[in-house]
Order: sequence, then structure tokens, then C-alpha cells
Amino acid sequence: MRVAVLGTGIMGAPMARNLLRAGHEVVVWNRTAEKARALEPDGATVADDPVGALHGVDAVMTMLTDGAAVEAVADATGPGLAGKLWWQASTVGMEATQALAELAAQRGATFVDAPVLGTKAPAEQGSLVVLASGADEALDRAQPLFDACGSRTMRLGGAGTGTRLKLVANHWVALVVNGLAETLALAEGLGLDGHTFLEAIDGGPLDLGYAHLKGPGMLDRDLPVAFPLRHALKDVDLLLRAAHLHDVDLGLAPAMRERFSRAVDQGLGDADLAAVFEVSRPSSR
Ligand code: NAP
Repeated sequence: MRVAVLGTGIMGAPMARNLLRAGHEVVVWNRTAEKARALEPDGATVADDPVGALHGVDAVMTMLTDGAAVEAVADATGPGLAGKLWWQASTVGMEATQALAELAAQRGATFVDAPVLGTKAPAEQGSLVVLASGADEALDRAQPLFDACGSRTMRLGGAGTGTRLKLVANHWVALVVNGLAETLALAEGLGLDGHTFLEAIDGGPLDLGYAHLKGPGMLDRDLPVAFPLRHALKDVDLLLRAAHLHDVDLGLAPAMRERFSRAVDQGLGDADLAAVFEVSRPSSR
């Protein structure tokens, strides 16, 4: 297929590379142009603007920060969306997804709400889990693109369902990362080496791969950016809003929001979300 990828950040760039590797023709556009140009050696064509990116393609994938960014970029394409398959992969929440589906309908595009589970490394490896939702015929058309970027596609129902599951999954991510951060901070505060906690749970029923993925990096302050912390704050806001709309009383999410928010205030918004550890570690007080 000929595919336009709008947004070649941490996730969009490796997804574009995997589309190219799978044999698709890929046109890329990014607000900061050098990030798009970095994909030229992989065979991507670089467009100067979203309108140019959509020229002559069958499908478009948006992988941008939030609903406002996706709406602004999609809106800027004018009539260019007509007749195109639109894979909306960014995490934008329920209300923006609804608004984007309506924009797609107005512009004559076929909307697929398919955010992805997995971070930078799974995006590079093509092993994301695609949370696909939309009309069956649209998902059939999008499947070759899902196959290029993911190792598994879950077909969940009508558009909007993928976004709801993504919010649920990101609630889990936020809980785990905050739970790990505070547990390791407690260990340090009690005069222990946090690594001994990781050793204590190793292989037992309380163990979790994520603890070993992020824990040592928290303790050693070595956290390559896979998921920017400011996006985690955005996602907690999105899931709190969704919970409010559906009358779900989340007790922990407001506390997680406060931790992420404080980390952003400390200048950690562009750091990996695991840097939320800095808010709790004893030396931060
Ligand atoms: P990122 O590296 O920060 O990329 C964000 C992209 O959005 C960049 O291309 C950025 O352009 C663009 N952008 C932001 N505001 C814009 C605007 N107003 N107009 C035009 N372009 C704009 O983030 P990412 O990690 O790839 O995340 C992208 C989406 O995927 C987010 O919704 C995120 O929550 C979701 N997601 C992330 C992960 C992860 O682990 N990283 C996993 C699953 C889903 P510039 O380069 O010019 O700033």
C-alpha cells in the first residue's frame, strides 16, 4: 500500500520503518522536519506538509502527541483525506476519538481507531499489540499495516473500543510504574539497596517483568526515553476523564496524576516515565 505517516517521533519513526520493511511505499511528514528526513535512508519519501503527504496515498497513519495535535494536522489536510483509510494510532482519549471519527466522516475518510500497546523497543521490533477498532471492512483493509507494525492485532469492535482498552492498559502502566517507584524509594529510605527488593521478588508470584525492565534504571538513574513522562501525565488525565464520564471512582489515579505532574514541574517531562521515581526518592526532599 501507499501510506502516509504523519508524526515520526519515538513511535511513528520505527513504525514507518517497519511499514517500509514490509514493502509498503511510505511518505512521512513531521512538524520538526529533520525527524522525517532521518527516514529517507530507509526509503521513505519526505513531504513538506500534511497536504503533500496525503497526495496519492491509499492510507494515512497519525502518530502524534494528543487529540489536539491530531485534529489540527488532520484538519490541515483539507479535502486530502477523502477516500483514504485513516489509521489513528495516537493515544487521544474517548472524546477526541469521537471528534476525529466525525471529522473523518465529514471528509469522506474511513476511520480506524487503533492505538498500540508497547513502547519504543516493541515499535522497533514490530511487536506492538494493535488495539484495532472500526468497521470490519476498514480493519480488513488496515490489516497489512497492522501486521507490519505489530505481532498481534486484537479486533475489538466499533471505533472507540480500541481507545477505551488503551486507556485501561495505560492505567495499568501508570499503576505499575508508580508502585515500583515508591516501593524502591521506600527501600532506599529505609537504608536498603533497592536492588535487593528486585532480587527478593525475582521469579516469585509477586515478580513482574516491568520491575526488572525499569527498576534498575530508576535506581541507577539510567533511563533511556521510551515513553516521555509528559505523555504519561496526558494519559492519566485522559483516563480520569473517561472514568468520570462513566461514573468510575478511581482512587489511585489522582495520586498518580499528582506524582507525574510534580515530575513535569521538576523538568522531567521529556524524561522516561520511570523518572517519576525522582519525585519519591529520599534525596528529592
Ligand atoms: P513523541 O516522540 O513525543 O512524538 C510526538 C509527535 O507528535 C512528534 O512527531 C511531534 O512533532 C508531533 N506533534 C506534537 N504536537 C504537534 C502539533 N501541534 N502539530 C504537529 N505535530 C505535533 O511521542 P511518541 O512517544 O511517539 O507518542 C506518540 C503518540 O503515541 C502519543 O499519543 C503517545 O501517547 C502514544 N504512545 C506512545 C508510546 C511510547 O511508549 N512512547 C506507546 C504507545 C502509544 P515534533 O517532532 O515536531 O515535536
